[in-house]
Amino acid sequence: MVQPERIKNLNEKPLKEGDYVLYWMQSSQRAHHNPALEYAASKANQLQKQLIVYFGLTEKYPEANLRHYNFMLEGLKDLKSSLIKRNIKFLVLKCSPNVGVIELSKRAVMVVVDRGYLKEQVKWRENVVKVIECPLVQVESDVVVPVEIASFKEEYSSATFRRRIKPQIERFLVPLKEVSLDRNSTSMELSTKIPEIPLEDIDEVLSRLEIDRSVPKTEHFRGGTSNALKFLDEFVEDKLDGFAELRNDPSLDHLSNMSPYLHFGQISPVHIALRVMGTESHSRDAFLEELIVRRELAVNFIHYNPNYRSLDALPDWAIKTLKEHEHDGRNYIYTLEELETAHTHDPYWNAAQMEMVLKGKMHGYMRMYWGKKMLEWTESPQKAFETALYLNNKYELDGRDPNGYTGVLWCFGKHDRAWKERKIFGKVRYMNANGLKRKFKIDSYVEDMRSIET
Ligand code: FAD
Repeated sequence: MVQPERIKNLNEKPLKEGDYVLYWMQSSQRAHHNPALEYAASKANQLQKQLIVYFGLTEKYPEANLRHYNFMLEGLKDLKSSLIKRNIKFLVLKCSPNVGVIELSKRAVMVVVDRGYLKEQVKWRENVVKVIECPLVQVESDVVVPVEIASFKEEYSSATFRRRIKPQIERFLVPLKEVSLDRNSTSMELSTKIPEIPLEDIDEVLSRLEIDRSVPKTEHFRGGTSNALKFLDEFVEDKLDGFAELRNDPSLDHLSNMSPYLHFGQISPVHIALRVMGTESHSRDAFLEELIVRRELAVNFIHYNPNYRSLDALPDWAIKTLKEHEHDGRNYIYTLEELETAHTHDPYWNAAQMEMVLKGKMHGYMRMYWGKKMLEWTESPQKAFETALYLNNKYELDGRDPNGYTGVLWCFGKHDRAWKERKIFGKVRYMNANGLKRKFKIDSYVEDMRSIET
């Protein structure tokens, strides 16, 4: 059963006459471990209706490019076959998500939607609520603890957030039972004026979309729940044990690689957590700290702070200290082109940039170093922030995510404390190349990236 805390009626409309229950899938793009899907399936059985799952694919999603669309479409193709196995029709329409749901809701008894926290996602849901003639129910499906249950306000740091969320975690970390549908909808005819996107040939679909093609797809990560589960198996079997000690070492890649899949909702954080908890590994807590506390702190920030795309979201001490040091002399100032093409004096930074450009995912520890250097090597904190966010969102498969906005702002002092004052950084935490050399086999990381490049 879906926990009631995940469910929210977005309007007060009564059930209406109709042919089906509609699940408007937006952020939870998966057929398993998906509370919104199970809630919609149980409603369909209760109302003796079929269940239809709809996804609206817009060509205009901010900052999305070919790399992101390819990964998402690979996931949607995988999802379609999983839904068919569950006797559910899956309809992908080429339109803004809100437009398609309004059209399909005309024949629906009720509509269920998952939850997104970014401004665009919230706006789509608000837009639909205004015009829809049947109930619209939101089911929060991509966090362990629902955001308002974890905390009622924006939290200052991981320490304050951890105290609030920890006592809530256990009751939300429970397996989700799959509902078997009484009625098969796979052969249901649904004609709309909006073109349908067939998913058989992804390259063909991509060639017809009017999207930004400046970033190619990456062969290193293929989209879809089945690929997410393969990475999860590999992580739990081979890497989890070393996670606590080795996760920061960029030369080892001892990470889960779950972030692109979490970003597109192709895997559930509850499922990942339960899988990890089912082991005896001494690294369990270290991993759950990242997956639940850190990730959901980012959701807390995006949900409660409308300035999440701005340096104004920093704590007062960070705003003040960065202002005081804004005009400090810099040894290096790089243009966007020099940064984007990895032409700096620093081989470690260049390797990190190339990892992101070529693989679509930079190692977590290097992301911190990469963002910090941006502050040091551009003319102002504002320029550094804009450049970091632009590159992060353009190349990372997991970019354009609550974690991305939070991670970039962390480099400027968000969720951190004041440190010893120094040039350019003021009291914001500093990182340097000596730290990388001292702690890791960083030259071997550089070599690995060079070999990918060639
Ligand atoms: P693992 O270490 O295996 O962790 C498992 C999961 O825990 C991750 O998938 C992620 O959901 C969560 N997690 C791990 N580290 C963090 C963290 N520091 N903050 C919040 N959650 C975390 N993450 C993104 O998902 N998208 C981004 O665009 C993004 N941009 C970042 C930019 C900068 C400058 C920084 C400093 C961090 C950024 N992060 C981002 C956070 C973090 O680096 C990545 O989530 C992590 O590297 C993903 O790799 P993984 O799944 O293999 O991580």
